[in-house]
Amino acid sequence: MFAALTVDGTTVNSLDEDSSIKLIFDADIEFRCSACGADLVETPHGFDDNGDNACPAYQPDEPDADGTGPHTPERVALSWCNSAGIRTDEADDAITLSLSTGHPLGAFTITIRRVPDDADSPLAGRLLLHLPYPDQPMPHDQLHPLHPGTFIIGRPVPARRARLTAA
Ligand SMILES: [Zn+2]
Repeated sequence: MFAALTVDGTTVNSLDEDSSIKLIFDADIEFRCSACGADLVETPHGFDDNGDNACPAYQPDEPDADGTGPHTPERVALSWCNSAGIRTDEADDAITLSLSTGHPLGAFTITIRRVPDDADSPLAGRLLLHLPYPDQPMPHDQLHPLHPGTFIIGRPVPARRARLTAA
């Protein structure tokens, strides 16, 4: 195997053996203040000890002196991801992509591998695609079908209550 590793289109390395490439994200901070950029930690009581949902720097009794607007918590982009990786395996003739959103030591994986040409199978020489699926043994996280090929990760969306209307 020979492969080139590129970052933003620039070749940074050549790979001639089984390789494992991983992007690791700092997923510790999930929320940030939209006004001052302070890192915010969500607790069961909100974003500060008073149970407020605003940045602790926000002083509701004082005028908005710096004109930055309300100190509103907003989610940090890509904070849902622990890591993203690519692993090649020549012995298995397979490449696996991984995305970790739950426990940092695990990941959802997508693998394509070729069945060996000499396999005693009508699939000899064919490519197989392996995907995560709902109710998979030892899943990285729970998957709930939304549309064909799209899943909700984690908690399912609660079913809407049927409206009770007068007949
Ligand atoms: Zn703030």
